[in-house]
Amino acid sequence: MKPQRTLPPAASPIGFIDIAHGIAALRHGEKTRERFKSELQQYFGVKHVFLVSSGKAALFCILKALQKLHPDRNEVLVPAFNCYSVPSAVLAAGLKIRLCDIDPNTLDFGPRELSKALIDTKRLLCVIPTHLFGLHADVKGLRSLIKDDAIVIVEDAAQAMGSHEVGRMMGLSGDVGFFSLGRGKAFSTYEGGIIVTDNESIGKCIAEVARALSEYSLFQVIKLIVNVIAVTVLGHPMLFWIPKGLPFLRLGETLFEHSFLIKALSPFQAGLAWNWKKKLERLRTGRNENALWWANFFHDGSVDGIFPFIDPRYTIPDALRFPVRIEKDEKRETIFRESEKMGMGIRPTYPLSLDELPELGNFHPPPCPHARLSARTVVTLPVHAYVSGHDRKKIGKILSKSCVE
Ligand SMILES: *Cc1c(COP(=O)(O)O)cnc(C)c1O
Repeated sequence: MKPQRTLPPAASPIGFIDIAHGIAALRHGEKTRERFKSELQQYFGVKHVFLVSSGKAALFCILKALQKLHPDRNEVLVPAFNCYSVPSAVLAAGLKIRLCDIDPNTLDFGPRELSKALIDTKRLLCVIPTHLFGLHADVKGLRSLIKDDAIVIVEDAAQAMGSHEVGRMMGLSGDVGFFSLGRGKAFSTYEGGIIVTDNESIGKCIAEVARALSEYSLFQVIKLIVNVIAVTVLGHPMLFWIPKGLPFLRLGETLFEHSFLIKALSPFQAGLAWNWKKKLERLRTGRNENALWWANFFHDGSVDGIFPFIDPRYTIPDALRFPVRIEKDEKRETIFRESEKMGMGIRPTYPLSLDELPELGNFHPPPCPHARLSARTVVTLPVHAYVSGHDRKKIGKILSKSCVE
């Protein structure tokens, strides 16, 4: 722990003005929440929007609703290199996980593995394509492979709120989609989740589930306010070395959560989001500038052994964290070490692929070698609002230096 400028790997800052709006919303809560909801409906152009306490809670509610629609099905197909929140929500909903290995070049479902996974679909309830770090999962391609009409596509756009793919917004190509408003996501209310769908029968079932959700208790709202203030102050690069040095906070670790809050989004959180559209746009533009800078940095080909996923010639970078692959263990370790020393926020992603995750217990998935390789070798560079030109240069130096050694 060193008192020095320290970058988190991802950040979506919340300001004191936002907090003031959040607290003000406690007085006329329902109105604030309804406004946030109707703004989202308009922005995404969808009929149904539901606001809940996290991305996990959003997925949980979706799965519960789908179970009502198809009680004879209980399996959920997910890519094996994934955020642990996904299996955590699947298990909480009482469903079974089926893993599919990924394509190591896109981090999306591997095409051959996917075709194989879609042969026997009698028990398959839904498939969850996931957009990781701004890389686009091919939802349309997935749709064309699914022959069984009862199977639902749940688009995990937790990391992709406001991102586009050839003019189409992420999260709207599946039968139902969800976004996360957690810390370090595209736009944050500390915690929160959004469900979007145009499908009438799914929308109706989710509405039933959502109606039964309880509200945050007064104690939980107060805890939320205290946490938001703490993150606003200590999440700043000037002070981030303090929480980062406290081992019990376990920052930077990816943990599997066995249980989590499943609530309606509180009016306080809806209040925090008072100018979300402008803010999301501003945060996205800033991240895109940084991501484009990284894309060009690697495009020169001057950095040996580090391979970017995002090529500006083919994609518009819309990344939450800029993903690269570093295959040599020694090189990766050197870079992490240097980054930690200088507080630069270069981080591994999900340390284990889902087929290796002990928390998933005694299920016996097929081994997923591409997912395992990606869990070891995918590294992200920070692109968030706090990353300055000076930071980029310092990070660039760490990356280039690791090549000479
Ligand atoms: C963050 C995330 C989630 C879960 O969102 P929370 O709000 O943290 O519960 C789900 N899927 C992916 C891909 C995520 O990155």
